[in-house]
Amino acid sequence: MSAANYLFPPSAIPSLPVRGSSQLVPVHRIYCIGRNYEAHAVEMGHDPNKEPPFFFQKNADSLVVNANFPFPKQSQDVHHEVEMVVVIGKGGQGIAVDDALDHVIGYAVGLDMTCRDLQAEAKKLGRPWEPGKSFENAAPCSEVVLASEIGHPSSGDIRLVINGEVRQKGDLNQLIWKVPELVSVLSNFYCLQPGDLIFSGTPAGVGPVKVGDKLQASIEGVGQLSLSVVG
Ligand code: MN
Repeated sequence: MSAANYLFPPSAIPSLPVRGSSQLVPVHRIYCIGRNYEAHAVEMGHDPNKEPPFFFQKNADSLVVNANFPFPKQSQDVHHEVEMVVVIGKGGQGIAVDDALDHVIGYAVGLDMTCRDLQAEAKKLGRPWEPGKSFENAAPCSEVVLASEIGHPSSGDIRLVINGEVRQKGDLNQLIWKVPELVSVLSNFYCLQPGDLIFSGTPAGVGPVKVGDKLQASIEGVGQLSLSVVG
């Protein structure tokens, strides 16, 4: 279908740069898993035992790439959540755990920025989490590194430093639901498509950010992401 068939021009396709390449990953959807590190489940007041994974979504156009994070006006309490992002390169439905990594083309470092006050209100009222999780600029993300270069990391330091101070620290080997399991479970609910992203959960130490903060997120073997919180 040519552009002339649309009533108005279509929105730009969100995309992520690829390390060492001039090509981009066109992003389709963003899925996020909740409570996927024991210590974070505990700090949020939940049972750390393995429960079935649950997912929520962010909009693909809330990606922030190579730009600063504007503090959202609707919230008084915005938290950082550093997470490894899994990039789907081959779609599928009902994907077996043993086949799941064949569908992953790469990884990135992401921040699941969260309006904790709005999320808490939604939880209390039994309402959807969208206001707290899916807002403009809610998904800062690094460039993608290809699995053909780094393999599929299952261990390695994941941390977030703010103004030089370590706030979040964990290891990928602490993921309750591992990457192949996440891909498999998610593919039972959705027909995964190339360009879908999965934010794989955050280690303990989440907390608020304020305007002027300098955030440095990093995952050993994957990459890093630096940005400032701006007003
Ligand atoms: Mn998260």
